[in-house]
Amino acid sequence: MEKFDVIIIGAGPSGLSAAKILGEGGKKVLLLEKNPKIGPKICAGGLTFKDFEFEIPTSLTERSFHSMKIHCFNKILEVKNKKRALVTTINREGLGQWMAGEIKKNVEIRLNSEVIEIGDNSIILKDNQEIGFDYLIGADGSLSLVRKHLNLPTKKIFVAIQYVVPEIFPELEVFFDKSLFGSGYAWIFPYSNHTSIGCGADLKFKEPTSLFTNFQHWLKEKKMDFDQAELQSFPINFDYQGFNFGNKFLTGDAGGFASGLTGEGIYFAIASGQEIAKKILDSSYKLSDLKKILKIKKEQEVLGKLLMFTFLRSKILTQYSFAKYF
Ligand SMILES: Cc1cc2nc3c(=O)[nH]c(=O)nc-3n(C[C@H](O)[C@H](O)[C@H](O)COP(=O)(O)OP(=O)(O)OC[C@H]3O[C@@H](n4cnc5c(N)ncnc54)[C@H](O)[C@@H]3O)c2cc1C
Repeated sequence: MEKFDVIIIGAGPSGLSAAKILGEGGKKVLLLEKNPKIGPKICAGGLTFKDFEFEIPTSLTERSFHSMKIHCFNKILEVKNKKRALVTTINREGLGQWMAGEIKKNVEIRLNSEVIEIGDNSIILKDNQEIGFDYLIGADGSLSLVRKHLNLPTKKIFVAIQYVVPEIFPELEVFFDKSLFGSGYAWIFPYSNHTSIGCGADLKFKEPTSLFTNFQHWLKEKKMDFDQAELQSFPINFDYQGFNFGNKFLTGDAGGFASGLTGEGIYFAIASGQEIAKKILDSSYKLSDLKKILKIKKEQEVLGKLLMFTFLRSKILTQYSFAKYF
């Protein structure tokens, strides 16, 4: 049987960031991706300033916004930051391809390779091939097979739905309306030649069918008719319950690292992938950045609950949350 030091399932941001560090650290790594291409993903592609810690080239980004309009009830709040962009949009395929290109050593990437079964020290691919590992990283997203294998329930889910439309919008806007989106929000994230218009909410406060109906209602009210566009939807797991289970690890959405307040997950995926790779390379590694992201995540979840109950009657709370996290 073929065998690797580390098998990573999933070539999203968390799997790619873990692979780069493990390869550089001298581990023999196999990165398995079920899709034929690295990168494409249902996502609004909004990066906040934190993401640029990872030296993502600005040439990959589409549009940067130093101001954003926050709509709540009938008020519009404009948040501005002269020094840095509040949100920058990025094409997910471009991000994935760049991250894959940054992997230079000891990593074999296999596309069209869906893992269908996980054992103690080996995985089985759809074509029945069995491959062995010393360590396994589940970087396989919110519907993670590795998480299921570990019998970890996923109770905290942020559901996000979007249309990607060819219309170009001038401004980045977010819309809060508790009756429509619970503690979540709707967004308009413009790119150079298209726009992501979507909404997302914590399932605890809004179940998917009512979120979908409310989104359609909201679009109608805004006189936005996207009947021709395809509606895309995917869950975002934010139910973190640990990252290390014997010789198996969970990163990114598989580990529930995403934010339960905003549904933001790219930053948390890259950061958790890097940290877990460093821990595999050196068991005495202190995981200081992992602690930092878990702290941000916890603060955001408390804020999410506060917003749900005091919901935007408090302008100060809204301004605070946007100033702090965007
Ligand atoms: C509508 C929507 C909008 C969003 N907008 C934003 C945003 O604006 N900003 C932001 O930061 N985040 C956003 N997110 C969240 C973000 O997309 C995720 O948090 C992020 O992609 C998580 O990265 P990951 O590497 O953990 O998982 P993923 O990006 O999901 O990658 C997992 C990979 O694993 C592969 N895989 C899965 N199962 C298997 C298997 N069995 N075998 C082999 N391969 C497998 C998948 O094909 C995939 O490539 C959004 C999400 C949605 C749904």
